[in-house]
Amino acid sequence: MEFRLIDRIRAHTAQQRDDVKLGIGDDAAVLAVPAGQELVVAIDTMVEGVHFPRGTSPEDIGWKALAVNLSDLAAMGATPAWALLALTMPRNDAAVTADFVDGLATGFFELAQSWRLALVGGDTTSGPLCLSVAVHGFVPPGQALTRSGARAGDIVLVTGTLGDAAAGLHLLQRGEHEAALIGRLNRPTPRLSAGLALRGQASACLDVSDGLIADLGHVAEASGLGAHIDAGLLPLSPSMLAMFDDEQARMFALTGGDDYELCFTVPANRVADVQADLARIGCGATRIGRMVEGAGVQVLDANGEPMAISRKGWDHFAA
Ligand code: ADP
Ligand code: MG
Repeated sequence: MEFRLIDRIRAHTAQQRDDVKLGIGDDAAVLAVPAGQELVVAIDTMVEGVHFPRGTSPEDIGWKALAVNLSDLAAMGATPAWALLALTMPRNDAAVTADFVDGLATGFFELAQSWRLALVGGDTTSGPLCLSVAVHGFVPPGQALTRSGARAGDIVLVTGTLGDAAAGLHLLQRGEHEAALIGRLNRPTPRLSAGLALRGQASACLDVSDGLIADLGHVAEASGLGAHIDAGLLPLSPSMLAMFDDEQARMFALTGGDDYELCFTVPANRVADVQADLARIGCGATRIGRMVEGAGVQVLDANGEPMAISRKGWDHFAA
């Protein structure tokens, strides 16, 4: 690069943390894990043309690359602390300029700062546009939320609404624009506060990144159970229902990816309390089904009959 890329990114970092003993600038960062906490780590990669369409603004790309990672920490009930950014960018691309890098950093740090997260290092290489972010957070020992703790009879809930990001992408591909839906696609809000509130409450938890059926399937499998979803209970946003008929909206909610809501399970007698706790932090949560003996995820219609669903959710390796 003819401009000093690392310095450009570094110029945006503002977050100072006492637990960063040595940040960007040496061969590696030196970090102090707080006494009595477990370290929770995750990494996610976003590739242009796969995870975001070419033409997405650099601010949105920077935000989303961090958001999808923070969502993984949220799903574990972890408090975020540090991140690493591996950035690959084309060398000879008129769209990738110093301004583009400033835009990426602006979006990234807008989200980072709201969670006091420090960027402590990374890597910079040339190639097709791609961002890999690794995040680190903390949980008290043994309190991480996992996929494997659901019990038969537990109620399945989701935060917020489902399907909006997939609906937004569908509109983009048709050359249409609807600000709320495209905002859900490009600027997902990681449910970190909800994840913290669910510590000690949820028996299992994950974030919905590949589609509800696929993701709830992971909880079912890890917990050695099956799951039933009541199609009529899916939380659908007014924005989506204004643009699509009910059936299409339900398909987006069941199989669309990129929502980054939390899907979690709670013993039936705890549901109302947990919903009240989440409401207190401004997070809606809707009961959508239950865990059952058996295996797999079934979607039930208004009569409790299984519905045939063709596409289980986004699969990177499907034809
Ligand atoms: P090295 O060759 O020793 O790996 P680099 O030149 O790749 O060092 O990086 C120098 C410093 O800049 C390191 O502290 C590294 O973590 C940081 N860094 C490199 N790229 C990025 C990036 N995209 N974002 C944040 N920090 C970065
Ligand atoms: Mg080195």
